[in-house]
Amino acid sequence: MGDLINIEELSDSYAHAMRNVLPAGPGVCTTCKTFIDPEFTSCYRCFTQPNLLDEVVPITYSEHLGQMHTALRNYKDGYTASVRAYALNRIAAIVWRFLAAHETCVANAVGVERFDLVTTVPSSSPEADDRRGAFRAIAEWCRPIAPRYERVLRATGNVPGGRDVNLNRFTTTRQVEGANVLLLDDTWASGGHAQSAAGALLTAGASKVAAAVVGRHVQPNWEVAGRKSSEILADLPRVFDWDLCAVHVT
Ligand SMILES: [Zn+2]
Ligand SMILES: [Zn+2]
Repeated sequence: MGDLINIEELSDSYAHAMRNVLPAGPGVCTTCKTFIDPEFTSCYRCFTQPNLLDEVVPITYSEHLGQMHTALRNYKDGYTASVRAYALNRIAAIVWRFLAAHETCVANAVGVERFDLVTTVPSSSPEADDRRGAFRAIAEWCRPIAPRYERVLRATGNVPGGRDVNLNRFTTTRQVEGANVLLLDDTWASGGHAQSAAGALLTAGASKVAAAVVGRHVQPNWEVAGRKSSEILADLPRVFDWDLCAVHVT
């Protein structure tokens, strides 16, 4: 695999389960783009934790136990090698296709022309980081970003589990002074690890740090202004538009 026909075919195989992420605005969290009561500007989690990211761009909403959520678990934890490979190939194609079309939008959103460095959010413990190998492999394979991909973040092992933002959770393995960094992750649930990773990059001198994540996790029963999140999801267009992103510039 690797030619563009395959990228389109592979990425389209989950398109019916993908939902375009809404731009920040009324009813959408300024930071993570989840659904919120229009009286607020951010979700509770983003409101209560420091926001160290210059922009967060999820590719799709991912409903808990829905097809995207299942794919985002299966690519690393699927029961058989073929289940893992099926999801891995398709998620890799989604990342490739989306970044080929929209990395410029994300860069423009933070006021730069392009990202100098692309890296991934590590696991919170050095031992667990091997399980992140599957997502690193995706980043290393995606041609639009592969030449700029480098693994520069490691868990310090000094912070206990949990998902709180903690500037001691991760550290950089080299100087990133002045670099504009695109941080990749598979899922945004609370955003705690992505924010901690951004903090480590900023501490090491990074200039701008934006995050692109495959799935913005959504709990279907979570009530937003009297509606279930599943109902809000059901109102979104059923056809994923590859020409749009949450920070799209036309
Ligand atoms: Zn949020
Ligand atoms: Zn765009």
